[in-house]
Amino acid sequence: TPGKNTQSLTSTCCYCGVGCGVVVNKEKNGEITVAGNKDYPVNKGMLCSKGINLHYTVNDKSDRLLYPQMRYNKSMPLQKVSWDDALDRTVAVFKTFIEKYGPDSVAFYASGQCLTEEYYVVNKLMKGFIGSNNIDTNSRLCMSSAVAAYKMALGEDSVPLCYDDIELADCFYVTGANPAWCHPILWRRVEAHKAANPNIKIIVVDPRVTDTCSLADLHLQINPGTDITLNHAIGRLLIENGDIDIDFIRNHAEGFEQYSALVFKRTLAESAKICGVSERDMQLAAKYIGEAKGFITMWTMGLNQSTVGVNKNLSLINLNLITGHVGKPGSGPLSLTGQPNAMGGREVGGLANLLPAHRDLKNPLHREEVQKFWRGKNIKPEPGLTATEMFEALDDGRLKAIWIMCTNPLTSLPNVRLAERALKKARFVVVQEVSNKPETLAYADVILPAAAWAEKEGTMTNSERRISYLNKIIEPPGEALPDAEIICRFARKMGYPGFDFKNSEEIYAEHVRLTAKTSIDISGLDYDVLKGSSVQWPYKKKSKPAGTERLFADKKFYTPSQKAIIHAVPDAFFSERTDNDYPFVLTTGRIRDQWHTMSKTGKVNKLNQHLKESFIEINPYDAAGLKLKEGDVAVISSRRGEVRVKAKLTTQIKPGVVFLPMHWGKILGNDLHRANNVTNNAVDPISKEPDFKYCAVHIAKY
Ligand code: SF4
Repeated sequence: TPGKNTQSLTSTCCYCGVGCGVVVNKEKNGEITVAGNKDYPVNKGMLCSKGINLHYTVNDKSDRLLYPQMRYNKSMPLQKVSWDDALDRTVAVFKTFIEKYGPDSVAFYASGQCLTEEYYVVNKLMKGFIGSNNIDTNSRLCMSSAVAAYKMALGEDSVPLCYDDIELADCFYVTGANPAWCHPILWRRVEAHKAANPNIKIIVVDPRVTDTCSLADLHLQINPGTDITLNHAIGRLLIENGDIDIDFIRNHAEGFEQYSALVFKRTLAESAKICGVSERDMQLAAKYIGEAKGFITMWTMGLNQSTVGVNKNLSLINLNLITGHVGKPGSGPLSLTGQPNAMGGREVGGLANLLPAHRDLKNPLHREEVQKFWRGKNIKPEPGLTATEMFEALDDGRLKAIWIMCTNPLTSLPNVRLAERALKKARFVVVQEVSNKPETLAYADVILPAAAWAEKEGTMTNSERRISYLNKIIEPPGEALPDAEIICRFARKMGYPGFDFKNSEEIYAEHVRLTAKTSIDISGLDYDVLKGSSVQWPYKKKSKPAGTERLFADKKFYTPSQKAIIHAVPDAFFSERTDNDYPFVLTTGRIRDQWHTMSKTGKVNKLNQHLKESFIEINPYDAAGLKLKEGDVAVISSRRGEVRVKAKLTTQIKPGVVFLPMHWGKILGNDLHRANNVTNNAVDPISKEPDFKYCAVHIAKY
């Protein structure tokens, strides 16, 4: 209970893309406590285990970086320096490389946890003034397949519905996601809806039996990588059963004939065999969807992180389109964003292939618009290096310098040993970071201490296009600065105009101006509006109602024909094949109480109690064949590296498939529980999102 000296301010949880509202109470001694914001429409006061323990990560300053550090050459130790010295040196090195090797010799690798204003300035700096599109973020590892699919199907990277549609839906198709653990508060809303309306149907598609399955009326435990086959089979059944929306298909969509011809090429029996589920269960899924008045598809990394991630997304969105379940209450495709502000980043063009306000890098008019607005250099039409490509380019010498902000690639990138080798070879590495723990710091030539959540103001956008304002509540420790301030100081020292922002509000105002007359027009928005309440974009000037809870209610899509496009995507497979040497399929994912690379949640004892160490889930049938007992150390090896963790025997995973959690990195010099030692950096050809969910491994008892 807040005391009389307590100051209470609102913010948004900095973990997952659900975007729960919090009230932060600041005590006189500067310590904070966190509670769910009862007035916030997303969570109505609820918080999950991670959100409710947020204050521990803020109050504990023991791992914080407090001042800039630098070394003059790779053999020297890092030493404390002033901000001016650190940035002057960085400017000198960047200028030298840009002059000698061109602007594409440098890159920025940022994060879906950056605030929108931070994304905006780093994107402006790189694309508008340095003259390279080498600015990408870890959202590439997360949502880029969904982004590409939305654009291809709906004409724009636009989540069409809102969370309030959950309570209006009567069928949910949850695939490649475990929201009970990874998007818990949104799932609580589905649970409450089901409890009040037991007849609503929940279909869960997952190779594992997760906590999400406990609410399911039907669990389709498919073989990993067979999502497109399943979605096509269900599409075929919907057509056969007459459960499609002919009016929508005729008047508001294109591509149905090709799609229909494609899905009828394979019999249900063939699809069932490929997917490893029964024909009866597929029929039941189609029946539930066919009977629904409101139908929501929900998904996340299980579809996105794949060499055919875009096609998996399109095959799923097709189910919404052929049934006409889009742009109406209780219906639509709802991609669950992994990170708190991946969507905000995309709004300002913070990926190697985007421009602000969802403009297209390849469109000369869009480039000209942005360039004129910024009064910067000509913007290049070719996309810059994406997340995995940046580290490959460092490894082969094309890239000389990288600036890593707010992310820990040496735990989170696939085939992480390549990334490690790449950073070792890099000529110059800048790490802008909150904590002294990430492994990247060992490779840094310059370390810049950044302010953390609650230590700076700004905005974020959650999975339902809801923009919220985050208050600054406490001062950052030591000499740490907000990320946007660091980037602007650097830009000014580079001699670039247009970075004299007095505060975040001015950055936001500039971003808002660039959105005018685009599909994500937020020209009616400013900090004053957002301090009053969060809103969903678009939010045009003087628009009524303010904000937009649901897109495409008029059935006019953002494609040139204004029709949604049903893509007849091939059911191809490009993941690493298993063979005699590597006979198991490895899939990776999150656990309930940890967040990404654990630099925040790993500090909280309560959260560490849930699952204290990494493990491999293996079916008892497979374990018996390997003479592996519960708790034995298993050696998991792939063509790229090795992991050693204890075995957890469970029938919740299919024979032939094993699961590793993604969170653990190097601990006290030991990297043998790091899942990404073995994962594959093969990527989807369109989205460039890596295949974290499927690679071939060998398992043995240690
Ligand atoms: Fe934070 Fe996500 Fe939990 Fe909400 S559901 S409290 S946003 S981690």
